[in-house]
Amino acid sequence: MQWDKKKIDSFKASLSITLVAKALGLSVENGRCHCFYPMRHAHGDRTPSLSISEAKGLFRCWVCPDVRGDVIDLVQLVRDCSFPEALKWLVEEFRPWENSEPLQTNAMNPKQEIVFPEERPLVLEEEISPTLHDKVILSFLKKLVPVENTQAASWLVRRRIFKSIWNKMKLRYVEDYDGISKSLQEEFGLELLQKVGLFNKRGHLRYYKHRLIFPYLDSQGKASYFQARSILANTFPKEQNLPGRVPFPYNSKILDGSPDWVYLCEGVVDTLTLLCRNISAVGIPGVSSFKTEWVPLFKGKNVIISFDKDEAGRNGALVVQELLSVAGIHNVIGGNLNLPEMFKMKEGYDVNDFFGGRK
Ligand SMILES: [Zn+2]
Repeated sequence: MQWDKKKIDSFKASLSITLVAKALGLSVENGRCHCFYPMRHAHGDRTPSLSISEAKGLFRCWVCPDVRGDVIDLVQLVRDCSFPEALKWLVEEFRPWENSEPLQTNAMNPKQEIVFPEERPLVLEEEISPTLHDKVILSFLKKLVPVENTQAASWLVRRRIFKSIWNKMKLRYVEDYDGISKSLQEEFGLELLQKVGLFNKRGHLRYYKHRLIFPYLDSQGKASYFQARSILANTFPKEQNLPGRVPFPYNSKILDGSPDWVYLCEGVVDTLTLLCRNISAVGIPGVSSFKTEWVPLFKGKNVIISFDKDEAGRNGALVVQELLSVAGIHNVIGGNLNLPEMFKMKEGYDVNDFFGGRK
């Protein structure tokens, strides 16, 4: 079905803005929650300034003039994403049985029409050549420092992800935020940086809070994609994916066709947790981000799907299992293994929790 204005309006009306806020990780109480830009507030918004009107389906911060809008604006602001990305996220979270296909920007078929209310512009990634895109990303990554001796180091150790893997996976940290921001703008100009997705629509480098950078290395050890992670408590969302296509799963260079077991994890942190223990693992950015085109990469492997032990993890695992099984790739869902009690994950745990990582 076409996502026209009418359908979007009725979709918005069918959602509870309070439940959406909660799904985004905001803690709403009596129609109030903390603003997601606490640094703009005196005392870090100790007294919640953001009002949520369930009746009207709207929210607003009483301090920040630009923090207001409807349920889709809320998702866009908190996840720092575009309108179609926000809509797609909402459909996947709240109406998974609806087809969100028409919302996917398809690089192979730029003519595929997406209908937006209020004529919001969409920056299409195919406007930039892949070579230029990769050049910008590479330049950004080169401006970063290794995580050793940065605030990210103690965060990683707390998660029980140790030094042995930091250099191997080229983990990086945004140390000099202002310097990097300025030098990128001088080198490429704001418009290009926004198109690539390094800068947000307000013209700021996106990685002020999300300073720990996990590059997705290709077989040559180069990266044209990465995930950014906040190491501060209470950041929503805690991860930021570079907009656009995820080229391959994290650490996919181990998918070399040789017969072997491989763990498929939800997120980079879980993948690193296993790699650190010399367990073969690859990761996908989120539980619903596995792509059909990646299935052939897993040829020859025995895959243990190790998503979070929660409802979303279980549902995501079933989807991936189906895709792999159809292609004849042997796989098993981690939770279905017949394991002794001590190797079983508790409800609500992820791989990192299992290995004693502290939040
Ligand atoms: Zn505010």
